[in-house]
Formats: sequence, structure tokens, C-alpha cells
Amino acid sequence: MTDECIFCKIVKGEIPCNKVGENDDFLCFLDISPISVGHALIVPKQHFTNLLDFPVGLDLSFFSFAKEMAGKIVKAVGADGFNLGMNNGRAAGQIVFHQHTHLIPRFDDDGLSSWPHADASAKELEKTREKILKA
Ligand code: 5GP
Ligand code: ZN
Repeated sequence: MTDECIFCKIVKGEIPCNKVGENDDFLCFLDISPISVGHALIVPKQHFTNLLDFPVGLDLSFFSFAKEMAGKIVKAVGADGFNLGMNNGRAAGQIVFHQHTHLIPRFDDDGLSSWPHADASAKELEKTREKILKA
């Protein structure tokens, strides 16, 4: 935990949140500035900066909790689907540097656009694939 971290403070109960669930390792509470009704954050109780320092040992706990919360929230708000999303690093839109996952209920015709896609040549894709395999 870090003294300055807002999500550590929420985990410790020093800052209030709209808690909707928890297990031993994670807390789930409503995002203060929701993208859609029921937008929640799944936050590990321990401080990790992002997915790269998130321990493998928590994967199972995360996915079972995320599935449980997704089912509950989708049902509660009558959503037609949901996004699970994680911003890792400033370039990816991360603002709070305590690892967290967004659970965003989606509704048919909610007008939320998806990411733009670009065409890539077979050569470009192969070059990228080789870089990743070497990393
Ligand atoms: P990021 O861009 O880092 O993935 O998202 C951080 C999220 O945390 C944002 O959606 C923001 O609205 C939410 N957030 C920031 N501060 C607070 C807070 O004090 N309480 C709650 N509930 N959500 C917060
Ligand atoms: Zn923290």
C-alpha cells in the first residue's frame, strides 16, 4: 500500500465508495464517473501498479470474482452485455496507478463507439509477430 494512493485509501476504508462486492483479494465498487449505469471497478486489495506487476497467483481469484460481479451487475441493471477493460500505463489511459479493471455494462444501441481499426499489410503483421516472439 502507498500513502498517496486513492484506491489503497478506499480499500482501507479511509475514503468512502459504493461497494458492490468483495472477496479475499478484490474489492468491487461503482466508478465515481460512470461510462454507463453500473460501471464498476474491480480493484485488488494489495497495491500493484498495473497488470505487469500483478502476480499470477491472483488470476484465478480475479476471474472468478469478475465473472460473479459481471453476472450480478448485468442482471441488476438489465444490460445486454459488458466490457471488461484494463488501462495499463498513461498512454493507455490509466489515471489511477493502482491496478484495476473496469466492468462496463453495455446496452443495445447505447451509442458507445468501439476502437477504430486500421488495415495492416501481411508484411507488417509478420514483422510485428516476429518482434513479439523474440521479446
Ligand atoms: P483509469 O483511467 O485509471 O483506468 O480509471 C480510473 C477510474 O477511477 C476512472 O474511471 C475514475 O472515474 C475512477 N475514480 C477515480 N477516483 C475515484 C474515486 O475516488 N472513487 C471512485 N469510485 N472512482 C474513482
Ligand atoms: Zn494503491
